[in-house]
Amino acid sequence: MPLLSVTDLKTHYQSRDGLLRSLDGVDLFVERGETVGLVGESGCGKSTLGKTLLRLVDPTAGRIEFKGEDITRVDQRRLRSVRKSIQMIFQDPFASLNPRHTIGEILEAPLVVHKAGDSAERRRIVAGIVSKVGLPADSINRYPHEFSGGQRQRIGIARALLLNPELIVCDEPVSALDLSIQAQILNLLVEMKKEFGLSYIFISHDLSVVRYFCDRVMVMYLGRIVESADNETLWSDPRHPYTRALMEAVPDPSRPRHAAPLGGDLPSPSNIPSGCRFHTRCPLATDRCRAEEPEFRSIAPGHEVACHFADSIN
Ligand code: SF4
Ligand code: MG
Repeated sequence: MPLLSVTDLKTHYQSRDGLLRSLDGVDLFVERGETVGLVGESGCGKSTLGKTLLRLVDPTAGRIEFKGEDITRVDQRRLRSVRKSIQMIFQDPFASLNPRHTIGEILEAPLVVHKAGDSAERRRIVAGIVSKVGLPADSINRYPHEFSGGQRQRIGIARALLLNPELIVCDEPVSALDLSIQAQILNLLVEMKKEFGLSYIFISHDLSVVRYFCDRVMVMYLGRIVESADNETLWSDPRHPYTRALMEAVPDPSRPRHAAPLGGDLPSPSNIPSGCRFHTRCPLATDRCRAEEPEFRSIAPGHEVACHFADSIN
């Protein structure tokens, strides 16, 4: 049984522009110990997917199972307990760190909510996690504004680890950081994964980061997964024209060029194109693409693609 399994998940919002189909039928799974990358342009629904998985946003339809339990519609009490096991790391940890509280107070708060030990025990847990993520011991007496971006992300990671989670959704955890700091934070995530036996869903618009970091990659376009494969297969044999276009944006002289870089804008999720939702930007689109939505289907073991011509393009 996978750690997490998601079936036909939809999250639709009512907005001024009409119904936003931010998530529009997502199927995915995460095995224990896996790091699954989720890539796509900004606005494709990646963050909505992350938030829906944690039930920070309620899905409109579909099913989320965590360790075999259907958590799609569980009540708040049960949800609180599930949230110990599924945590999230955000792009901008500063926005989620209360500026008036010390790091010690910020890190102790979830332990209080989840009644993890008495105050001496909680301080011991906090001191332990602060040292594990590579922050100096006196950090606990300081305030968020006293830390650099990389250090704040270490605080965000510490907070996510506090309750011994099994799955962490990392939403663009290094996108706001300088390149040299990005590597440090990615390495920390790798170490923590080993140490705590974690699984990750790693959301990024940056394929080169995902390539370095993930076992398996899912490519998302306008609220749907359009390609999923293990990391190596995705890079050596991408089958969806969108995946190919994304890859063209990543400089790599060793790789053959498959396609032109992506043109045009991402359509609005309030106005999803008919048939294949990628047809307005796809260099290979035909009349069939405009009329008929391609099924997300397996073309080889562990390799799934939503394109009518996935088998024949090269
Ligand atoms: Fe392009 Fe057609 Fe494939 Fe969609 S189904 S990705 S439009 S070739
Ligand atoms: Mg986002």
